Parts: sequence; structure tokens; C-alpha cells
Amino acid sequence: LLSSTTSPGLHVIHIAAEMAPVAKVGGLGDVVSGLSKALLKKGHLVEIVLPKYDCMQYDRVSNLRALDVLIDSYFDRQLYQNKIWVGTIEGLPVYFIEPHHPDKFFWRGNFYGEHDDFRRFSFFSRAALEFLLQAGKKPDIIHCHDWQTAFIAPLYWDIYAPKGFNSARICFTCHNFEYQGTASASELESCGLESHHLNRSDRMQDNSAHDRVNSVKGGIVFSNIVTTVSPTYAQEVRTAEGGHGLHSTLSAHSKKFIGIINGIDTDAWNPATDAFLSVQYNAADLQGKAENKQALRRSLGLSSADVRRPLVGCITRLVPQKGVHLIRHAIYLTLELGGQFVLLGSSPVPHIQKEFEGIANHFQSHDQIRLILKYDESLSHSIYAASDMFIIPSIFEPCGLTQMISMRYGAIPIVRKTGGLNDSVFDVDDDTIPSQFRNGFTFVNADEQGLNGALVRAFNLFKNNPESWKQLVQKDMNIDFSWESSAEQYEELYLKSVSRARAAKRVL
Ligand code: ADP
Repeated sequence: LLSSTTSPGLHVIHIAAEMAPVAKVGGLGDVVSGLSKALLKKGHLVEIVLPKYDCMQYDRVSNLRALDVLIDSYFDRQLYQNKIWVGTIEGLPVYFIEPHHPDKFFWRGNFYGEHDDFRRFSFFSRAALEFLLQAGKKPDIIHCHDWQTAFIAPLYWDIYAPKGFNSARICFTCHNFEYQGTASASELESCGLESHHLNRSDRMQDNSAHDRVNSVKGGIVFSNIVTTVSPTYAQEVRTAEGGHGLHSTLSAHSKKFIGIINGIDTDAWNPATDAFLSVQYNAADLQGKAENKQALRRSLGLSSADVRRPLVGCITRLVPQKGVHLIRHAIYLTLELGGQFVLLGSSPVPHIQKEFEGIANHFQSHDQIRLILKYDESLSHSIYAASDMFIIPSIFEPCGLTQMISMRYGAIPIVRKTGGLNDSVFDVDDDTIPSQFRNGFTFVNADEQGLNGALVRAFNLFKNNPESWKQLVQKDMNIDFSWESSAEQYEELYLKSVSRARAAKRVL
């Protein structure tokens, strides 16, 4: 009894498809490493299990080595061997699973977007649990993320807990309900889950296609804790408009569902120490920020003539969720208002990529506008540091990290009031909000008028009241966006769930 109440730390294992900086596509990668580091700092034992992708940044993994034993895991009615690698990423112990399967699941030069993603990640989920079982791990919490590892929840309760691997509670975090991982029900069988048992409306059956199963729904139904990445998004996804078909499932499981806003990794994102920058700076020394602006202008071939000309930044995946039509509009409006615009983005959607290539070519040698259509970590740091304003006109945004990063670098966010943006950006002109919390510009309607209103107000303040602008920049740079308080909320959820399970065991 005593040991359960005074136990100093939990053993938490994250199983995920991404982890920054080695395998990052978007915010999920940042969250897995940021939350893990924060939990480690709080004294918990944290481990991470990832697929061993061929396209990872191996130079950021230290002490990578293969374990002596191979792990056999079930798929398509037979056993396949997996080689297990172990290494350290920014102080965190990470296991990598390399399947010896003829389909070479993680040997594709891509993280996602393959025709057999459902098979790739259901295989990985099963192999990850098999490894934990065979390694004799006794975690308190297994934390899975997004549809790729949501299979963990039904696999754990249907297959692994009955084998005696039952020390853990399962936490599932959905970072974006737009991506749900559906497939015809029979495809579930490959990883050993029984489709006739799970293809039911109260289990994994997709809410809009009854011959299909939905892995995110399985994560919701079978996990002990279900979270998403901001309180506002948690409300939005429980409505028919925002739930992408899962609102009724989320409402039925609302007691275990909560929104916790993400933090950012304040070591990786720190203008005072950032090695990617030409000059480091802090809130008390904004001269350094001005020098970064000049350096970026020079390197991108933009005009440096007017130091006071505001630079508007935008760094994003170019997908409909991000409000691509409003991003396009913002480019032209910025030009009209006398600013400079720098976009760093790339698109997995061919027609959007093509459209932006057209705009990029049009402005190829323009001295106020530059579009760079690729993924570039180093350039992203330089843009955050150089920007005066940062635009995020999302249609929906589960949490969003770029508004927090931009504020930390002194770029004032201009955002649509949705999801996590609504929980982290508060309009400077909104009298209903205590003035100490006001930190940016927001708009409500996802149309050009909405965006115009916010961007024009930002330009006016920048041009007409430089002293207030400077104070706003300094205030934003000093806001605490670290994982500290959000990690504490996860810790509380974990602890509550673990002690509830222990209490239930004692009663039994
Ligand atoms: P999402 O997860 O929907 O992509 P987030 O705002 O949660 O959006 O996270 C985006 C992360 O990806 C941020 O760290 C941002 O800096 C980074 N990012 C997005 N696009 C690019 C790009 N083209 N080059 C470099 N980093 C990018």
C-alpha cells in the first residue's frame, strides 16, 4: 500500500510514428520529444518506441546499436522477425523496430503517404507491444499517439493483457482528428485483432462506413485516458462540424477525454542560444533580432532599404486545414500594405504545391516577397527570428506550435480564432481579456475580410506606435510556453489512472 502512494516516479513508454528531431513531419514529432523530456525532468522513467525508418536523421541519434535478440511478432498468420535497435535522442532512451518483412515497411524513403500505411503501422503497433512483453518491461503508462499507434489500445486489452502483460494503463493522444486510419474491416485481422469482435458500432466500426474499421475510434474506445492537444479543440471535436465523424464517440467517452495544450521545447526554440541564427538575442536586446531580419533579407535577396518595413513570416504544411487561400491572400495584402512576406512551406497535395510553385515563380526576383517551397529546419529558425509578424489563418488547428515559437522569437502572431490558437493568442484590442494576457491579433471569420481586419490593425500598430509594438514583442518573448505546466497535467492524469487501477486490484 505504502509503495503505491509514495512511489517516486512512473514508468512511461511512448509508442509513436514521429519524434523530433530524427523523424518529424509536424507537431506530433515535437510533442513526443517535448513531453518526454519534461516528464524525464520530473523524475519519471520515460522510454520511446519508434519505427526504424531509413529516412531518419541518424546523425541526431547517439550510441545507436542493435540488441542481440530478434523479436518475433505476429502478422498475416505468421511470425516475422524484428531487429531491435537502441539509442539516445537528446537524453531520451529510444528503441527502434526494424521489421524483417518482405514489404520493407519502413524502408520507403518516406514516413507516411504509402499505399499500405494501415498495414505498416498496424504491424509496428503489434511488434512494439511484442517487444515490450518479451523485454519484460512493466510500464505504468503506455502512451500512444494518432491513428498510426492507436492500434495499441485494442491490441493491449484483447491480446497482451490476457498474456499477463498488464501492468499499464493506456493513454491515447489524438493530435489531429482529420487523420483517422480507416480500412476495410478484414484488414484488422493482419495484426491479430478480430474483426467480427471489433467491427461493432460501440467498438472500432467507422461511424460513416459500416464495413470499415477506424483506428482512432479504437484508440478512443479502448484507452483509459484520451487526450487531444488543446481545450478549445477538445470542445470543437465534440460537435458534428468539428468531429470529422467521431463527435458521437467522443461524447460517449467524454469522462475520460480532455484537451491539454502542448508546450514547446524551449531549449530547442531559444533565440538566446539558437545556433541556427546569425546573431543570438533576447527580450532585453532586440538589436540582435533586427540583425537577423537584415541577414534573412540579404540571404533571400529581399530589399534591405527600409529597416522599418515589417516582415511577415509564415511556416506551414500547405494543406487545406491551414487556410491556404488565406495564406495566398495574405501575400498580396502584405504587398499592398507595404510589407515583406516570407513563406516556408511544402505540400503533400499536388494541386496546392503546383499553385504555390506558380506564385513562387511569379515573385522569383521580387524584392519584397519570397516563397521557399520545401522543408528546411535551419531556415525555419532564421524566419522566426527575422519576422515582425507571423500569420496563421487556419480553418481548424488542434493546437498549433508556430504561434508559440513565433512569440518566443518576438514575431507577433496574427491568427484565426480556432482550436489551440484560441487558447494561446489573445487580441491586443479585446477589452474582455485582461491586458496582461493580450499578445497578438485574432480574427473569427475564415475569409479575406476577417484576415484584412487583423493584418491592417497589426500594420497600423507597427507603423504608428513603435514603442507599444516593442513592448508587445518583449512581452511575447517572455511568455512561458515550456512543457512544464502541460506535462504536469499529463502527470496528474497518469497518476490518477494508475492509482484507480491499483485501488481496483486491491478490491479484487
Ligand atoms: P502541424 O503539426 O499541423 O504541421 P504545428 O504548428 O503543430 O502544425 O507544427 C508545425 C511544426 O513543423 C513547427 O515546428 C514548424 O516550425 C514546423 N514546420 C512546418 N513546415 C515546415 C517547413 N516547411 N520547414 C521547416 N519546418 C516546418
